[in-house]
Amino acid sequence: MNGDTIFYIIIALLTGEFVLERVLSRLNIKAMSAALPSKLSGLYDKEEYKKSQEYQIEKDNLGLYSSAASYLLTLILLSTGGYAWIDSFTKDHFDSNTGQILAFFAIVAILSDIISIPFEWKNTFSIEEKYGFNKMTPKTFIIDKIKGYALGGVIGGLLLWGFVAFYSNFPDTYWIIAWVVFMLFALGATMFYANIILPMFNKITPLEDGELRTAIEKYAEGVDFPLGRIMVMDGSKRSTKANAFFSGLGGNKNIVLYDTLIEKLSIDEIVAVLAHEVGHYKRKHTLQMFFISAVNMFITLFILSKFIDSKELAEAMGASKSSVFVGAAKHSLSPLNLVAFSMLYSPISLITGIVINAFSRKNEFEADAFAKDTSSSLALIDALKKLSVDSLSNLTPDENYVKMHYSHPPLLQRMEAMED
Ligand SMILES: [Zn+2]
Repeated sequence: MNGDTIFYIIIALLTGEFVLERVLSRLNIKAMSAALPSKLSGLYDKEEYKKSQEYQIEKDNLGLYSSAASYLLTLILLSTGGYAWIDSFTKDHFDSNTGQILAFFAIVAILSDIISIPFEWKNTFSIEEKYGFNKMTPKTFIIDKIKGYALGGVIGGLLLWGFVAFYSNFPDTYWIIAWVVFMLFALGATMFYANIILPMFNKITPLEDGELRTAIEKYAEGVDFPLGRIMVMDGSKRSTKANAFFSGLGGNKNIVLYDTLIEKLSIDEIVAVLAHEVGHYKRKHTLQMFFISAVNMFITLFILSKFIDSKELAEAMGASKSSVFVGAAKHSLSPLNLVAFSMLYSPISLITGIVINAFSRKNEFEADAFAKDTSSSLALIDALKKLSVDSLSNLTPDENYVKMHYSHPPLLQRMEAMED
């Protein structure tokens, strides 16, 4: 297959994915019902229910503009040979293959981020603000961006640097080495997330002694859960939306509660939410998901290794035949091949995404069932209702949209499963 054919395949895939997303979004808006589902009656009054749907529609419209903008940027870069231009520009300025690749991806990442900033700004300071969720100041927004760049630069840079180093030193086994290193990195990230990454963006304090702490400790003891530290995070710094999660792999598990969760839920409800999280741990879901992503990463890197040296991929991205030849002769890695591969691979990522979401939704039901057995399904249902009303979430999403995007089952399905 020559470069031109691959170019058209890439354009077709990108366009197909863009259209598919828009169709699903449309279906999702159409699935909105004028009246509340009878099981949820009383959850909202008429005005509030209407408001929740307007919120969803505004979010969806913004999503359309935002994905259209990044689709157009990619299309322009592809059809004008923009990627190839960045490739030769960085080649001219960096002698080493590693330096060139790092510079290439830094430029591409900054470009696509610049395109998305106006939409993120509009989402935070216009939509989230209008519906009363936003607590972020423009200053926090900008500081978050800078920290995000620094963090992404360091982590992404290190991983990319490692990959190029393995590629040039171990031509046959580099992808297996990269797989091991990436998975170790992912393991480390899950272990240290709450201790290192989170404090860069939020203030974390230990939960003070009192009724809530006692109730959590009592529950953990009853189900033989290795409870580590219980911490409170200032989620209210950015949004009124609430959450809770566990962190740590092996050994003791630390709990992080958003301050907004403590404010909104009763003690019984918080314990039920944590019982659900404990359910994930007891049913070994974290381990299972880690295993699935390890297999997924292995397959992806294996397929990548079959295409990574293809001259045709670089040509499809607009590189001239002679420059591709020079690159291949030096046995250096072309960033153009990595970009082309990521685009050609998108149908497979789409399918793995659907499979992983299906696993995740199944796990959510299992965790709910665990909470029902060891805590209270009524308290959990009350908590889920409160959180879903509070975040104006979509109560009647389209089935196909759920399959594609939902890692958690819709509220109604979770209630029905727990009522059985
Ligand atoms: Zn869960």
